[in-house]
Amino acid sequence: MSTASGPGSVPVGPARRLTVLSGPSGVGKSTIVREIRAHHPEVWLSVSATTRAPRPGETDGVEYHFTDDAGFDRMIADGELLEWAEFAGNRYGTPRRPVEDRLRAGRPVLLEIDLQGARQVRATMPGALHVFLAPPSWEELVRRLTGRGTEPPEVVRRRLEAARVELAAEAEFDTTLVNTSVEDVRDELLALMLAPKS
Ligand code: ADP
Ligand code: 5GP
Repeated sequence: MSTASGPGSVPVGPARRLTVLSGPSGVGKSTIVREIRAHHPEVWLSVSATTRAPRPGETDGVEYHFTDDAGFDRMIADGELLEWAEFAGNRYGTPRRPVEDRLRAGRPVLLEIDLQGARQVRATMPGALHVFLAPPSWEELVRRLTGRGTEPPEVVRRRLEAARVELAAEAEFDTTLVNTSVEDVRDELLALMLAPKS
């Protein structure tokens, strides 16, 4: 894919500024995002809205904007969401305005969203880089999701059902990173995000 700049012009800043990170529940997406939030302020992390209840340790406005169904309905009706999806019984969406503002300012932006949301972004923002985060094995994914201990068994079951669908869609992504080591994935993701478009 080419950059927006014409022949002979000098590209300003990294040409690829919007990155989507997706992968099955429990693979380690939030862990990677937490690492980047703590150590890489040059990357702007989108904060999604969700109807899910906060987990212990999550703070409104940091990991998510926690809202109720009526609040989420209003955001949809007002066109405030860049994309949104229902996932394992809750709704999640990306507030449009902050993403557009950061992209306009030339900041690298990272969206951590599910497969349905990634498909919407692919349709509406064709320049984005789509990164799939894969587990080392199915057994390890199950171990991580159950080991996290944040969801009751019925919700774990629904998330594993969704995980099968997400894993089958890996080929839709531009590249895959296997989450064996959090540090390696963090570094590989940053290198991809900050590299010029190929
Ligand atoms: P997701 O956001 O994709 O649902 P999390 O980031 O919550 O996943 O990670 C799920 C569990 O797996 C957490 O308990 C986390 O500490 C653990 N985990 C994440 N990455 C790794 C890794 N590379 N090796 C071992 N455990 C990991
Ligand atoms: P969790 O409840 O584990 O935090 O997130 C569940 C799923 O929702 C994950 O796959 C996560 O990537 C996805 N998700 C989080 N925010 C958004 C969002 O804004 N839009 C979409 N489509 N999915 C999201």
